[in-house]
Amino acid sequence: MKKNANVPPSDGATSDATVDRYPLVAIRKHCLDCSSGSIKEVKHCPCDGVHSTRCFLWPFRFGKRPKTAAKKYGAEFLDPAAMHEDEKEGKE
Ligand code: SF4
Repeated sequence: MKKNANVPPSDGATSDATVDRYPLVAIRKHCLDCSSGSIKEVKHCPCDGVHSTRCFLWPFRFGKRPKTAAKKYGAEFLDPAAMHEDEKEGKE
């Protein structure tokens, strides 16, 4: 099977070479830096253009394409209108 040049290796390696080659890995790394390394802060980042200013990296902050991230983390984390609805209801 031919390897997809746009998909980073699945071994979780985030060497400088990996970050340079794969923009989504670089965005994830940047978002973790922006949120002091907190995965939870990145997940709940309010910079979606509705709850705060818009960050153009927001849809890509999981280091995956938005459709893939929606399947893995839940569509509400990729939809600014649905973001933070769970917090109003007292859920995590
Ligand atoms: S989406 Fe923007 S504001 Fe949010 S964590 Fe990433 S870089 Fe920071």
